[in-house]
Amino acid sequence: MVKSMKQPVILLLLSAITYIFLSGCAAKPPHEEGDFINPDLVELIKLDPTFKLDIRYATSNNIAGKPVYTEARAFLQRPAAEALVRVNEKLKPLGYGLLIFDGYRPWSVTKLFWDITPDENKEFVADPKKGSKHNRGCAADLTLYDLKTGKEITMTGVYDEMSERSYPYYTGGTEEQRRMRDLLRTNMESEGFTVYEYEWWHFDYKDWKRYRIGNIPFSKIK
Ligand SMILES: [Zn+2]
Repeated sequence: MVKSMKQPVILLLLSAITYIFLSGCAAKPPHEEGDFINPDLVELIKLDPTFKLDIRYATSNNIAGKPVYTEARAFLQRPAAEALVRVNEKLKPLGYGLLIFDGYRPWSVTKLFWDITPDENKEFVADPKKGSKHNRGCAADLTLYDLKTGKEITMTGVYDEMSERSYPYYTGGTEEQRRMRDLLRTNMESEGFTVYEYEWWHFDYKDWKRYRIGNIPFSKIK
């Protein structure tokens, strides 16, 4: 009796697992109508080797608690990447460089972040139904580093922190932290980037609408 009861339970479990597996596989970026220009993703350090990288999503030190990238690399669409090189150049005489956390992000990773983030923190992650400007290769997460020491500059909050300290208008922290945060922002704005209202480290490039949501992995970027 017990033995015969087990089979339906196992079957039920198997079908549930199959359903989850198939729905996971079926997940794909939203269809977008309109005119888009061809993607031209370039690796940032190939344009400027003085960018410093700290690709958190290739480590366990991120909101997923596990690596979601297999390669610690950062890409942007060429005009955005070239604008970022100009920002880096402007910062050098002041003693700073850009430390990059993330650039182009495949859509599947945006979907994963959305799925694991509780509702009360959804303002910090992009809705996969709309896609993210990272998916379009037109958003960068970054901060400043000290050119002399190579160390990351302390800001009002830390990268990917889900609290009010992440807001670019947050009035707490020290005066120096706010000054550094605002220095980053002013220089980014001078080259066509806009800060995200909830994250001092996230900047969108002005032409993001011209690029489709992308989902190719880093390894396939030519
Ligand atoms: Zn971002």
